[in-house]
Amino acid sequence: MNPMRTKILFLFLFLVVAASAQKLKKADQTIIANLKGHISYLADDKLEGRRTGTNGEKLAMEYISGQFKAIGLLPKGTSQYYQPFEINEGKQINPATYFTINNNTLEAGKDFFPFPFSPNTKIEASPAIAVQEADMPWFVDLSEILEENKNNPHFDLNEYVRNNSRKAADRGATAIILYNPSTLEDNLEFNGKDKSELLSVPVIYISKEAAKKYFGDKTATLDIKLKTDIGEKKRTGTNVAGYVDNGAATTVILGAHFDHLGYGEDGNSMLRTGEKLIHNGADDNASGTAALIELAKILKVSKAKHNNYLFIAFSGEELGLFGSKYFTEHPTIDISSVNYMINMDMVGRLNDSTKVLSVGGFGTSPQWAEVINTQEKRLPFVIKIDSSGTGPSDHTSFYLKNIPVLFFFTGQHKDYHRPTDDADKINYTGELRVINYIDKVITTLNKQDQKMAFLKTRETLNRSTAFKVTLGIMPDYTYDGSGVRADGVTEGRPAAKAGIKTGDVIVQLGDYPVNSLDTYMQVLGKFNKGDKTKVKFKRGNEVLESAIEF
Ligand SMILES: [Zn+2]
Repeated sequence: MNPMRTKILFLFLFLVVAASAQKLKKADQTIIANLKGHISYLADDKLEGRRTGTNGEKLAMEYISGQFKAIGLLPKGTSQYYQPFEINEGKQINPATYFTINNNTLEAGKDFFPFPFSPNTKIEASPAIAVQEADMPWFVDLSEILEENKNNPHFDLNEYVRNNSRKAADRGATAIILYNPSTLEDNLEFNGKDKSELLSVPVIYISKEAAKKYFGDKTATLDIKLKTDIGEKKRTGTNVAGYVDNGAATTVILGAHFDHLGYGEDGNSMLRTGEKLIHNGADDNASGTAALIELAKILKVSKAKHNNYLFIAFSGEELGLFGSKYFTEHPTIDISSVNYMINMDMVGRLNDSTKVLSVGGFGTSPQWAEVINTQEKRLPFVIKIDSSGTGPSDHTSFYLKNIPVLFFFTGQHKDYHRPTDDADKINYTGELRVINYIDKVITTLNKQDQKMAFLKTRETLNRSTAFKVTLGIMPDYTYDGSGVRADGVTEGRPAAKAGIKTGDVIVQLGDYPVNSLDTYMQVLGKFNKGDKTKVKFKRGNEVLESAIEF
């Protein structure tokens, strides 16, 4: 090549590079630097995955409220910026519970446990192990029933215990004391989520060790003292809310959840190896929280003043939208003045090749179509519209209060709900584009003097049938082909066992075709746990079929 031409080419290349680096305005560069600061702090190991009710959540709350204060937002919680709320996690064995045999104290949770359907009561008696008489505690040896059913996959020991104990109570037992001296596993444990009706008498399980120690001699009579005290297990989560008062009649709410999975203790991690690893949640949802803070900065000084702005960082989202639900039930502003709600959940992983930005809630107001135009020229995204007002994040709580919502989401990825969702994988320029776009949407709508009209949309999830059975896949919400594309497959669950891999598209379950997420949810509702059928799925151009058990 001619050396002179090489020089010219080099000069030309240099100019192109310099020009593209300058493309980002000073203000945009500042936002990117701020986003990096927010996300690297919130997704640091020091915050231990920001699990609701932990010190990591508290550190995040302090950070967010500190930012809100520095921006000049007014506190809009119930205690300054904070709005604490309780999450009921089911039942627990309270410390007042005890069980003694011949004055030997057994340890609750280790040597024995009461079943959650036991009433709170106190009993002192001297029953004989081998005799079942009225007005006395009864001892029930589980060996026989376990032996009888050891090859029966449909046998449910918990169900048996409940039914058999009810019958025993009807025949005069004052307590039922279960033990298993056999070599067969019973896997019985205290299940705080058990919501079954209380029986009239307590049902106690004695561990194998303790049973060996005390129940060896079947002819013995034992002195028993028992107290059951089962209470509610609660955890406190805290929303963080800040406000811009423009003296307007209507308020726009912007929200993002800041809680995440901690070490995965709540069972919502995709990592099923049992390792205790911090889930930093950089995309889910330090990214949305960072966007919330930056939008607060932008809107605090914006000329768009036809609305007040309420910024809420929600907690308890990963446990089931608890924070946003609590807010909509206990709003700190007049909820009828809310114009619309914008939710940002996972906005940090804009894919630079597909550039898909998913916008949910599009069908919740006819006016969204006036501001969101997928055909718009020079958009930095490919916008994928989802019309439903419900979905797996906090906008659902507002939609259910008849408030128009928009849900911004840059799509699923393989680090979703895994310890690898880290800050170094965030697309900061992509997130900046999302923020600028949301600012543009809000500014455009500012011209309207009336509240947005609300529309009901088709429910994505049929509440009564959802979650009865699941396949253990993470559906790709941005997939627009026919079927349901798996963006993640959980080890050990039915889909994984059937050989389904990330990227496969489920097209049929049993006799039912699956062409969308909606039909997928409906079809799942037709199966019960333990059912066996066939699943058809596409891998590339190939259609595969395999057996699946729910
Ligand atoms: Zn999540």
